[in-house]
Amino acid sequence: MSNNHTSIHDFDFTLICNYFKSLERQGPGSPEATQKALSFINELSEKSQIADIGCGTGGQTITLAEYTKGQITGIDLFPDFIEIFNKNAAKALCSDRVKGITGSMDHLPFQNEELDLIWSEGAIYNIGFERGMNEWNRFLKKNGFIAVTEVSWFTPERPAEIEDFWMDAYPEINTIPAKTAQMEKAGYIPTAHFILPEKCWTEHFYAPQVSLQEAFLKEHPENNAVKDFIANQRYEQSLYHKYKEYYGYVFYIGQKR
Ligand code: SAM
Repeated sequence: MSNNHTSIHDFDFTLICNYFKSLERQGPGSPEATQKALSFINELSEKSQIADIGCGTGGQTITLAEYTKGQITGIDLFPDFIEIFNKNAAKALCSDRVKGITGSMDHLPFQNEELDLIWSEGAIYNIGFERGMNEWNRFLKKNGFIAVTEVSWFTPERPAEIEDFWMDAYPEINTIPAKTAQMEKAGYIPTAHFILPEKCWTEHFYAPQVSLQEAFLKEHPENNAVKDFIANQRYEQSLYHKYKEYYGYVFYIGQKR
């Protein structure tokens, strides 16, 4: 039996994908933050194997390629993102060593101890920080590095509105000491961490969305799902401005023991 219905779920998936694929990055971050995180990692060689997990359209991957040697595999669940990723790699003249593939972070196509570096900006939350840290460990060589960004609390307590928002969105959100303890338990030496500067959210992530939101609403004037989605994006952004002293993204860098 054929089924021509688009479920709400399918629609959301397409909607979210179409929205984010026109942005240079799909999460907070910046080339400077990527470069800073790289400064905590031992130098790589041309033979080094790097994975960028949840790479999106590759905003950070091109920076990674610029400042490292080695082969980079970008992996993302959305084929549309990977298509753009590979076009971006070609434009940056690095498709000989940067390749995007569609796949899931809970079923990675690597061998044990194959990788020198695992990178993941704004994506590990999809399977959860602790699970990702544990499951991805086996793909790293001994002394290999992992570098991920993860939303974290900056204070032991915070106002109920922001606590409730994050408990609903991502209950695994926790403080920096709790996250580094999880890394340590998963088999890494937590070698460094730093808070992403505010402009990683404002300038690099939220600002490019303002005109996109206008365009989206104009393009779909009668569509309630679009209206709800945009309202939600705007609410999330307003919360950031109101509560940014309580939470943000943190880059966590670790070395496999
Ligand atoms: N790293 C990019 C950046 O910083 O611009 C993208 C970050 S975006 C917030 C999260 C990414 O994770 C999206 O590109 C999404 O498609 C991807 N993703 C979600 N679930 C995934 C999964 N199970 N496996 C691989 N990628 C996934």
